[in-house]
Amino acid sequence: MIKKKITFLNKKYQLGQSEDEKTPDTALTPLSIKEQLQSDDSDTGTPSKMALTPLKMSKFKIQHEKSKSSFAHGGRALVNRRDIFAEHPFRQLIFGQRTTQETLLKHIEYTKRGVTYAAKSLKPPSEKFLQQKQVDIPLKDKEKKILILDLDETLIHSCTSKEKSQVQLKTEDGQLLRFNVRPYLAYFLDCLSTFYQIFIFTASSPSYALALVDYIDPLEDKILGIFTRNHCLETKNGYFIKDLRILRDVDLKNIIIVDNLTHSFGFQLENGIPILEWTDDEKDQELKYLVDYLIEASQCEDVRDFNREKLKLHDLIDYIF
Ligand SMILES: [Mg+2]
Repeated sequence: MIKKKITFLNKKYQLGQSEDEKTPDTALTPLSIKEQLQSDDSDTGTPSKMALTPLKMSKFKIQHEKSKSSFAHGGRALVNRRDIFAEHPFRQLIFGQRTTQETLLKHIEYTKRGVTYAAKSLKPPSEKFLQQKQVDIPLKDKEKKILILDLDETLIHSCTSKEKSQVQLKTEDGQLLRFNVRPYLAYFLDCLSTFYQIFIFTASSPSYALALVDYIDPLEDKILGIFTRNHCLETKNGYFIKDLRILRDVDLKNIIIVDNLTHSFGFQLENGIPILEWTDDEKDQELKYLVDYLIEASQCEDVRDFNREKLKLHDLIDYIF
């Protein structure tokens, strides 16, 4: 039997109508936030100008060590090639079995920015404001954990006019959508809908989200509902934050969010998985291998303990490249 998808698109939470309603940022320095953060993402923007130590790529170059063995060919000592990625303290932030140095370092850098911004600049909203935004969600199984998934650059990529797209479709209001679907998405939803109650949480518009979710879950039996931009908290500098506390009466120990933008789950860093952003790589394996991680997490008493131990996001704050 096909379950009816329940959307939250009609909930009219008027966010950001006045400065008072926006969640304030705690400035690190008087000019820090505006100068350090700049939107460059299709939905909420990645804090992109946090002061970072310039990457020292040479630290991660493959190094060759002289073999201690006396065995040699033609007078040339054998060398052992070290697996520098496996040894990297944040290798776990990419789930796929293969990655490049450039991809790994870029992802770690973006994630560090998000974590640092969340830990040092985000100030949570008032209880009263939060209560106004809370929604009841239709949980079928109180024992089953909840998986919240971002859309853009996590499950799909909306193409620009210059990019070739895998899929084209029109929204109910006539808007043409051109997008790519991340490899293993169907497998991902298929597997995890057994272990989790799955919802989408996007900072994009309702009509856009509905059209995409209808496409990726055509039988409406994997995704239970959609949270959209209206459900985000908007910071004064224009970032949309997905505060998981808007799910009324849901214990945070039972919620995981997967999002390519770390600051999106900045109020609950330990509930989040900062997935590698995706646009068109047909060999991408993140969703495939994330399945294993999430199944293991679903068996834990508290997903925050599991994420803290496995991902070590807070350690990024003091990590120097
Ligand atoms: Mg995204």
